[in-house]
Amino acid sequence: MFETLSDRLTSVFSSLRSKGRLSDADIDATTREIRIALLEADVALPVVKAFVAQVKERARGAEVSQALNPAQQVVKIVNDELIAILGGETRRLRFAKTPPTVVMLAGLQGAGKTTLAGKLARWLREQGHTPLLVAADLQRPNAVQQLQVVGERAGVAVYAPEPGNGTGDPIAVARTSIDEAKRLLHDIVIIDTAGRLGIDQEMMKQAADIRDAVSPDEVLFVVDAMIGQDAVTTAQAFMEGVGFDGVVLTKLDGDARGGAALSVRHITGRPIMFASTGEKLEDFDAFHPDRMASRILD
Ligand code: GDP
Repeated sequence: MFETLSDRLTSVFSSLRSKGRLSDADIDATTREIRIALLEADVALPVVKAFVAQVKERARGAEVSQALNPAQQVVKIVNDELIAILGGETRRLRFAKTPPTVVMLAGLQGAGKTTLAGKLARWLREQGHTPLLVAADLQRPNAVQQLQVVGERAGVAVYAPEPGNGTGDPIAVARTSIDEAKRLLHDIVIIDTAGRLGIDQEMMKQAADIRDAVSPDEVLFVVDAMIGQDAVTTAQAFMEGVGFDGVVLTKLDGDARGGAALSVRHITGRPIMFASTGEKLEDFDAFHPDRMASRILD
């Protein structure tokens, strides 16, 4: 995960190790290198600019420290700024005052939504919740069946009254699933919606209609981190078309660069809430900006 960026930043810092104190020229050279490292990691340009400006300002203003040498000071500043750009604090799931809490998943086909639905359900079940998975992706053949398989593996009930042949009414399914959850005392409903391979107005409208029908407590935008800056473009389209409260990054295990992770919060203003790091149901956790920053700087 993020090996390219880690390696690049490590070599930037190692060139500072021999310095007794940092001149303005050293700071300029270092921030130039950091800029290149971030651009190579496919971080969006406005994010790179904001990040580098912040690091430069803090490095210039840094007091001579007894405890930290200049290289360590720069590492600390970069670490703090990485945490900030990744969202600062961990943003936890908001639960409804009156159950069920409704979580709706949106994103492109192939982003990893269905897998994620199972992972999130399993994770919540392990914390003592009783989630209900809802198959409102009636477009993709096999999506309903795939959710049923995932639900079984996660040990979680699945509500899927319609066949996945593109003819059912996903809005009705989503709506009735809430009544079903109340009836069977599920405290959380996780709604898997249809995605397309590319951004598509019809898909956006369907997701927006589902959102209007069920008023979710959380809409989570699920995005494949491996698509780099395209994740940012996709996020902006979903922000306009559906709106969302938080982001889930999937396939971080295959992402050597980290551009999506480092850009999406700053660009959309929405926190990264969860991260998916593999195909297995347990390859999943809440997203912790501080842990991610230390991994990058490890
Ligand atoms: P959906 O179309 O958005 O519902 O996507 P799926 O859940 O069907 O996932 C698409 C593919 O990505 C499947 O082959 C999943 O096994 C794979 N996948 C999902 N999440 C991850 C992940 O975090 N890491 C890796 N390596 N593969 C993943």
